[in-house]
Parts: sequence; C-alpha cells; structure tokens
Amino acid sequence: MSGDLIRVGVLGAAGRMGRSVADAVAAADGMVLVAAVDPSAPGSRVCNVEVVADIRDLVETGVDVVVDFTVAEASRVNLDVLASAGVHAVVGTSGLDETDIGELRAAFTSSNCLIAPNFAIGAVLMMHFAELAAPWFETAEIIEVHHDGKVDAPSGTAIATAERMAAASADWAPDPTTRVVMAGARGAAGPAEIRIHSLRMRGAVADQEVVLGTDGQTLTIRHDTIDRGSFMPGVVLAVRRIAGIPGLTVGLDALLGI
Ligand code: NAD
Repeated sequence: MSGDLIRVGVLGAAGRMGRSVADAVAAADGMVLVAAVDPSAPGSRVCNVEVVADIRDLVETGVDVVVDFTVAEASRVNLDVLASAGVHAVVGTSGLDETDIGELRAAFTSSNCLIAPNFAIGAVLMMHFAELAAPWFETAEIIEVHHDGKVDAPSGTAIATAERMAAASADWAPDPTTRVVMAGARGAAGPAEIRIHSLRMRGAVADQEVVLGTDGQTLTIRHDTIDRGSFMPGVVLAVRRIAGIPGLTVGLDALLGI
C-alpha cells in the first residue's frame, strides 16, 4: 500500500453498484478513490475522479485495490489484467462460474482476489443459516427477487446458497412432480435438485427466501436488501482486508469469522 491510505479503483464506475462503491470508498477512513473505469461513460466524473474507458489506464494510476462490479465477460478480462499487474481485486460481479474460479486461483499469485456473490452481511448470514439448517430438512426451495435491470438468472447468491446446502446434506427428497402443466413451473434445478425461482421486479433491489420443510414444520430464512447501501460495509471491509488474505477467497464468511 502507498503510505497509510489504500488507493482504490472502481470498475463499472458509471453503473448502479460502481457509483455506490465510489461514494463508499470516498467516505471511508483509510482509503482514497484514485481511479474509475467504465467504457459507457468516459470523461464523466465520479466523486471528483475522471472516468476512463480502459482498465489499462487504471493500472497506471498505481492502485492498490480494484473493486469490480461489471458483467462477467468484462470481469474475466479485467481480473486477468489485475492479476498480471499484481493489483488486489474485490469482485462483486455475478456470473463467474467454477471454471473462472479455478483460473483465478491459478492467476492470483502475486496479489489477492476476493469474490463474493453477496456483500450484504445479512445475506452472508442467511446463506450460513441455510447451510446450518440443511441437514435437518428433506425439502428446500429458494426464491430470489431482483430489480428488473438484472440480466442473469438465477442470482449468484441463490446458486451459492444451493451449493452450500447441497454440500451440507446428502439427504434430499426427490421432486414429486410427474406432470409439468406449464414449463418452468418448478423453477431451475440447482445443486442436489434444490429448486431456484427467480423473480424480476421493478422497484425491488435484492431479496432472497430459503424455505425448508420436514414433517410437520417449515422454516423460512429471509433476507431483504432495502437499498444498495446494504452492500457497502462488506465491500469496504473487503477492500481494507484484501492485502492480508493470500490468493483467492470466495465469500465474505472468512472476514466475518463464520
Ligand atoms: P449496471 O449495469 O448498473 O453496471 C455495470 C456497469 O459495468 C455498467 O456501467 C457498464 O458500462 C460497466 N462495464 C461493462 N464493461 C465494463 C468494463 N470492461 N470495464 C469497466 N466497466 C464496465 O449493473 P449493477 O447493478 O451495478 O451490477 C453490476 C454487477 O454487480 C452485476 O453483475 C450484479 O449482478 C452484481 N451485483 C453484485 C452484488 C454483490 O453483493 N456481489 C450486489 C449487487 C449487484
């Protein structure tokens, strides 16, 4: 790090999340926003920093940590550049899969990378609680609700929740449906056939409900994101701590001690 201040760059700086991240970094103690990249808005300003179109211009500013909230195709290229340049990366972009994770694990050797499908601390706890509950129930389904600007489905959080629940129990009841009257009625079959239902709703930000059932009882674990501010404490925490967590880290759990 340069001096005491962490020098931060933001990718997707003109986007919904990028703008919030720029504000949060500018307001946080111990860090300073030095670069902003977004090919959709070169020349505009975010928190008094001029937005540039190309990530290579950002690397030249001597950033310590770059936060990426873009789209998966862009993120793959961005992260390759950051790993080669030895810059730490904090990634919120959805849609990176297991192959990407494997490649990033191999690429981030001289700097570190943290990818979190959800930076809202309440959502991280929701996933943790769902994983704890999984061995005690035989049926589970996930309902996620996002704003109508979201292009990928299901959400990264829903997929990560299902993966963790599937890994926590091998004892899931089969789907009883033998006749699907309308295609898609049972949602997407995730890991361990846990069904995921994606709603896209104008006015919503990001909500998720995990419903588990066993004989005579159901358990609902629900998290609601009221606005994008919910993600910022997690992002700022990751920016602060990334230099001390070597290699690739997936999820905020390790930073929360759970
Ligand atoms: P958005 O469409 O508002 O913003 C994305 C921005 O990325 C756009 O301005 C676009 O021009 C820019 N972009 C595209 N290619 C780029 C590149 N090569 N370099 C720099 N910028 C580039 O979307 P959003 O709502 O801000 O969400 C961004 C991503 O973050 C999505 O994948 C979303 O699912 C994810 N997300 C994650 C979390 C989390 O907690 N992990 C929370 C909210 C959103």
